[in-house]
Amino acid sequence: MKIEKDRLDAYLTKIRGGACPLCRGTQWRISDKVFQVMEYEPGGFILGGASVPVLPLTCMNCGNTYFINALVSNLMDTPQKNDDSIAPVKTQEKG
Ligand SMILES: [Zn+2]
Repeated sequence: MKIEKDRLDAYLTKIRGGACPLCRGTQWRISDKVFQVMEYEPGGFILGGASVPVLPLTCMNCGNTYFINALVSNLMDTPQKNDDSIAPVKTQEKG
């Protein structure tokens, strides 16, 4: 999923990047694609399990990366449970 440019630009006017705590660099880049951090499950992963949608904010000098929560930051709307486009997947993968 990709975030609309207008929404991303509005968010970037709200935050103050400052210097990277690892290298003191000041060049940051934010992804316009949403990734997800999934709940850890020993021995495999559960499709459709708990996850958090995030956008990586990366220091362009050392690679230090923050994950911005796409819901808390209002970069994306909270998915509706009856939205057919996000039908839950019941498959359980075990390694
Ligand atoms: Zn850095």
